[in-house]
Amino acid sequence: MYRAKSTRGGHHVYRDGDSHGDERLRTLAELRTALHEDQLLLHYQPKIDLSTGTVRGVEALVRWDHPVRGLLYPDAFLALVEEAGLMPAMTQIVFEKALDQAAIWQEQGRTLSVAVNLSASSLVDAELPDRIGDMVTVRGLVPSVLVLEITEDFLMADRDRAHAILTRLRAIGVRIAVDDFGTGYSSLAYLRDLPIDELKLDKSFVMPMADDPRATALVASTIDLAHSLGLRMVAEGVENSAAYADLAGYGCDAAQGFFMSRPVPAAELDAWLAKREPDATLIQPVAFP
Ligand code: C2E
Ligand code: MG
Ligand code: MG
Ligand code: MG
Repeated sequence: MYRAKSTRGGHHVYRDGDSHGDERLRTLAELRTALHEDQLLLHYQPKIDLSTGTVRGVEALVRWDHPVRGLLYPDAFLALVEEAGLMPAMTQIVFEKALDQAAIWQEQGRTLSVAVNLSASSLVDAELPDRIGDMVTVRGLVPSVLVLEITEDFLMADRDRAHAILTRLRAIGVRIAVDDFGTGYSSLAYLRDLPIDELKLDKSFVMPMADDPRATALVASTIDLAHSLGLRMVAEGVENSAAYADLAGYGCDAAQGFFMSRPVPAAELDAWLAKREPDATLIQPVAFP
């Protein structure tokens, strides 16, 4: 009796684990299919230069065109990509697509830099700098069209290693931005010693600016500090004209946000840029869907 019960209990647990295993295997298979069958695509969000109103760069953001679930955003699948060990493969795809698009823009006579987000797991790949160099050169691009957006956690996890990796990447001529700045634990004093070009102030600091004067004061002083260390400051999450005007007033270098444009497919970005061209300094807000 006791044995049978125990076996049944064990069996139950096993079956439970097994069905999770099935689900996991199915999603993994879907992800591999997504990578092989070209279901990943990039949307581009413009970064507006606040002193001139012009667009000098865009950020590439990955999406998954899932055959059943439709268009998926990174929050829905990046953790799985990471867990499945597929991040290096995804990063490679994102680079190829982003650089293909950069080459198209260059052919059209547009000078647009393209920023790609890099996870910590991709950054530790020792071959990465050489591969990036090759991918850039083979398309006839200059390395400075590429901006790598890295997060603070990567910088803080192993400082010496981060320093070494960034130094190698910067040596090939790409630019480095620290993404979601302010959400981690890095200090400006530490960042001063790293080979970086740009800080991207996290949207959690920018979005409350309209309602909270203290938020605005914090942003203003952070911009000054960044500048005193020779770093460019880019604000993300600009959702209204008040934030846009305040950031411009405080000398923030560039801004990104739904007020100017959501991330969109390249063709839509081209149309948006064309519409702006008669007056590059005129920001035309897009309707919130
Ligand atoms: P991120 O790099 O900080 O990108 C900015 C995110 O904020 C994007 O979300 C963008 O759509 C959103 N955003 C931009 N302007 C506004 C605004 O005005 N208001 C609000 N509320 N949000 C705004 P998305 O595209 O869902 O990407 C989320 C995150 O996924 C990214 O955050 C980045 O960390 C990661 N990610 C995206 N693409 C890639 C990729 O190719 N590789 C890796 N490793 N991570 C990626
Ligand atoms: Mg980013
Ligand atoms: Mg960001
Ligand atoms: Mg962010």
